[in-house]
Amino acid sequence: MVLRAKTKIKGKGKGKGFIRKRGSGFPVRKRFCRFCVDKTKTIDYKDTKTLESFIKDRGKIVSRRSSGNCAKHQRRIAVAIKRARFLSLLPYIVYK
Ligand SMILES: [Zn+2]
Repeated sequence: MVLRAKTKIKGKGKGKGFIRKRGSGFPVRKRFCRFCVDKTKTIDYKDTKTLESFIKDRGKIVSRRSSGNCAKHQRRIAVAIKRARFLSLLPYIVYK
């Protein structure tokens, strides 16, 4: 948190992502949408097993940046998760 405040002082809008990339030693690998690659896979709000892989242990939806989905499929996953949440197939939030 302290570090973040420091970067804010510098006042560059794009600074946040850039620094994080530099900081982590992982090489940037090419990500691809698994639903675009495998056309047989479908997004269904009843398919909780698939949807669970797109929520974090706290119940949040995993961002496109980390899941690697394309915009179209990320949107559909988000809608499917929200539907599943309403039917209480998936949690809104997980308390620890
Ligand atoms: Zn896709």
